Amino acid sequence: MHLVPTHDEVVALLRQTGGLRSGHFEYDNGLHSDEYVQVALTMRYYEAAKILSVGLSRKLRADSELRAMIPELSIVAPAVAGLPVAYGVCEALRAHQVYWAEQDGHDQPLRFQQYLELKPGEKVLLVDDILRTGSKLTQLKKLVESNGGEVVGLAVVLYQPNPMAVKFDPLPLYFLAQLDGMYYKDSASCDLCKRGVPVDKVLV
Ligand SMILES: [Zn+2]
Repeated sequence: MHLVPTHDEVVALLRQTGGLRSGHFEYDNGLHSDEYVQVALTMRYYEAAKILSVGLSRKLRADSELRAMIPELSIVAPAVAGLPVAYGVCEALRAHQVYWAEQDGHDQPLRFQQYLELKPGEKVLLVDDILRTGSKLTQLKKLVESNGGEVVGLAVVLYQPNPMAVKFDPLPLYFLAQLDGMYYKDSASCDLCKRGVPVDKVLV
């Protein structure tokens, strides 16, 4: 294994640990796909979590602008799924702190914990396990900015953009591997549905 794992090493690690599945899946937004990723299933193993978060931190450290901010950098996750990555990256970088957003219900806005206050101009790196549509990270970016922070970049273990994915340009986006699974916009256009392959509904 390389210090920054290669695309193939990341994919192999995910497959071995149950984090990457092949089959026929329907997402809650109606998209169908032949692949499903659940990074949390991989992150439950300490060794795998370490490999991924250290690898991601090395990519971040290679950015000289970001490297200069590390002592004051906040690592912020949009939800609990991003926490193992956020803590792993913070530990490897020796960054300043980790915190995360909460949500009182599926349709409720993201919020920070009571008494959590950002310093004016606080440098924030948004971290999550995976970026698919980018909608949670977009909400988190707005939340950080409305609390006076400055988002300086994004880092995810996996980048699996679907056809609705938001772009965060000009912010830098770091990831260990990009997965381009096949996406179908609905059941009617899905080849797997046409072939009668049984479908699994997935929650996220
Ligand atoms: Zn289908």
